[in-house]
Amino acid sequence: MTSRPLPGHPQLHYRDDALYLEDQRLSDLAREHGTPLYVYSQAAMLQALAAYQRGFAGRKVQICYAMKANSSLAVLQLFARHGCGFDIVSGGELERVIAAGGDPGKVIFSGVGKTRAEMRQALQAGIGCFNVESEAELEVLSAVAQSMGLRAPVSIRVNPNVDAKTHPYISTGLKDNKFGIAHERTVATYQRAAQLPGLRVVGIDCHIGSQITEESPYLDAMDRLLDLVQAIEAAGIAIQHLDFGGGLGIDYNGDRPPAADALWAQLLAKLDARGYGQRQLMIEPGRSLVGNAGVCLTEVLYLKPGEHKNFCIVDAAMNDLPRPAMYQAYHGIVPLEAGATGQAAQVYDVVGPICESGDWLGRERSLSVAPGDLLAVLSAGAYCSSMGSTYNTRPRPAELLVDGAGTHLIRTREGISDIYRNERLIPAKA
Ligand SMILES: *Cc1c(COP(=O)(O)O)cnc(C)c1O
Repeated sequence: MTSRPLPGHPQLHYRDDALYLEDQRLSDLAREHGTPLYVYSQAAMLQALAAYQRGFAGRKVQICYAMKANSSLAVLQLFARHGCGFDIVSGGELERVIAAGGDPGKVIFSGVGKTRAEMRQALQAGIGCFNVESEAELEVLSAVAQSMGLRAPVSIRVNPNVDAKTHPYISTGLKDNKFGIAHERTVATYQRAAQLPGLRVVGIDCHIGSQITEESPYLDAMDRLLDLVQAIEAAGIAIQHLDFGGGLGIDYNGDRPPAADALWAQLLAKLDARGYGQRQLMIEPGRSLVGNAGVCLTEVLYLKPGEHKNFCIVDAAMNDLPRPAMYQAYHGIVPLEAGATGQAAQVYDVVGPICESGDWLGRERSLSVAPGDLLAVLSAGAYCSSMGSTYNTRPRPAELLVDGAGTHLIRTREGISDIYRNERLIPAKA
């Protein structure tokens, strides 16, 4: 037997011609559970977490998994068991953390549009920190906390105005983004926060974007953040923790993001050089912990040759894998049984059944496939299931977590009546 790894995808490999995740043959799982099917590797998630933990060895750090990347309860449970807190962006996500056994005291609440109800819910749960994104939000949060006889722990998200050099929809650290407080307003905003009776200033944070594959935007943001810490503390306001957000990229298509430990070695050297190395640190990685730990399995339904294009129509679609339609994103697509068909390779656009031309999963892919063959869409651990929908009344797929030679069914396939359970017919005509 020969084993051939897929670079950038830990735990995914071919044994002879069959694709495995850990010790599970993926075609077996597809046959047993049906397609489309998400399959995640527990070992790959823990390996990704371990790279961060190594990078921070000997430091005071709280890793808060940005759960919007993949908010399956079992995934949250796994990270909670390994010491993670969570970065949340809604009251619903907080409920998930609690349902998964996570510690609300290790939760930070990000997002530009927190409602009063969400603020109350988070205060009641005793969350660790609100990452506040505007001056108006500060005032409301203070009033809500005061009305409950509490002081809300706050950090202010500053916008360092650096270009993360990523897709415009996932770049968040530029002046014209909706996120954070402008660099120039930061000290004044902290002064206001320090005066408000319902608040307790605890930290500062930034998050400059997602799928960042270079070190320089992080290093620049770090310098700007530390300049601000210096100015805020010079104004007499103590900052206990520094939160650098998430955003580290993964290898989708030959991308070469820095490894988490290598990136943090550089960032920590900068922190040390400027005298902040022993501060309490927080980070909010999402994609880099789960993205390449998962695949989405799909079956080829039809091959449709055309004058200019050939289409390979599969049973997964943009509702299961929204990133290509949303960001023109690339996902690798590979066969579960290589060389099984004996078909000559042809170039296909791989598309789903949804009635939208935007419903494509991959363009101009060379594949040797026949109807009935199984494919894996790679890098499907982040921003796929969590961003999925039931558009076209397509039920959400089942999800599996592989652990060595065992698997856990962590989400059953949705039924059609689950989709319309909350809908009501209008009264019958008299
Ligand atoms: C989405 C998000 C993250 C995680 O981003 P990744 O690119 O998935 O690492 C972290 N912090 C905040 C505030 C976010 O909105």
